[in-house]
Amino acid sequence: MGARGGRLPESRCRGNDASGATLSQAITASSTATSDGLPVVALRGVAKRFASGLEALAGVDLAVARGEFLSLLGPSGCGKSTLLRIVAGLTEASEGSCSLNLGGQFGRVVAAGRIGFVFQEPTLMPWSTVAGNATLPLRLAGRVGGPVGAEARDRVATALRAVGLAGFERAYPHQLSGGMRMRVSIARALVTDPELLLLDEPFAALDEITRMALNDDLLRLWEARRPTILFVTHSVFESVYLSTRIAVMTPRPGRIVADLPVGLPVRQRSVRTTPEYAAMCETVSAALAAAMAPPSPPPQAGES
Ligand code: ADP
Ligand code: MG
Repeated sequence: MGARGGRLPESRCRGNDASGATLSQAITASSTATSDGLPVVALRGVAKRFASGLEALAGVDLAVARGEFLSLLGPSGCGKSTLLRIVAGLTEASEGSCSLNLGGQFGRVVAAGRIGFVFQEPTLMPWSTVAGNATLPLRLAGRVGGPVGAEARDRVATALRAVGLAGFERAYPHQLSGGMRMRVSIARALVTDPELLLLDEPFAALDEITRMALNDDLLRLWEARRPTILFVTHSVFESVYLSTRIAVMTPRPGRIVADLPVGLPVRQRSVRTTPEYAAMCETVSAALAAAMAPPSPPPQAGES
């Protein structure tokens, strides 16, 4: 869903300063943002230590260019969700900085709707319809107070069509399959046409067939709208299939130890049986295995 309509601590995370813009102004600015060469997300020396003393992240450097589809790949507990939350402004880094370049300018505030967030669980409101759930970010952005207007209705209809849910607007979450609920969650994130889409293992709880279908849908959405995507996964195969780039993380405290471009010729199911896909999966698996290996002990005196 849409995230980050509020003020952010300047030293921790910077974004643009278009909070006063109307939704349509923000959307227009979003679609006309110049490709200024600056990364959309720039993390420098990011560390995260929780109040408990647990060190989740250490020295994370990462720059994500506009339109990239970047997967963060790492073992469970290595700090992937924490990193995504820092980018979304939902938690602060203990050290380092996170700068955002959204709407073509830097500033202290990110306008509501610039960032879409999809969680591992669909997290839908059970009392609300599919259309009602997808409208939530527009309501939170203050654009829909009372009855839903024509612009919001159009946006919701477009987002639901994009995820294959046209015709299900009046259904309730309990009437949907797990895959359809996740589609609603993605539609909710798309409804503000975000420049930056953060997805936290969105398909991990789904069966293989549904997961593959949603992988394809996500790819088509990315190709059509070209948002910048940060996608968290612990699946090598999924990361290779979806991404233009893969950042491999160590176990906690998470660091990025490999940054691998993915140059597959096409992103369709047929690619999964090609030698290029198999070779890339092998490269990424090897990088992940190296990241997981405990550091080798220093050589003892007298050892050759
Ligand atoms: P991942 O998404 O890679 O599985 P997380 O970012 O969720 O990892 O968590 C990284 C580590 O930080 C884990 O050990 C987790 O238990 C811990 N952690 C996450 N959130 C908190 C919190 N609010 N307080 C204390 N520890 C936390
Ligand atoms: Mg997680």
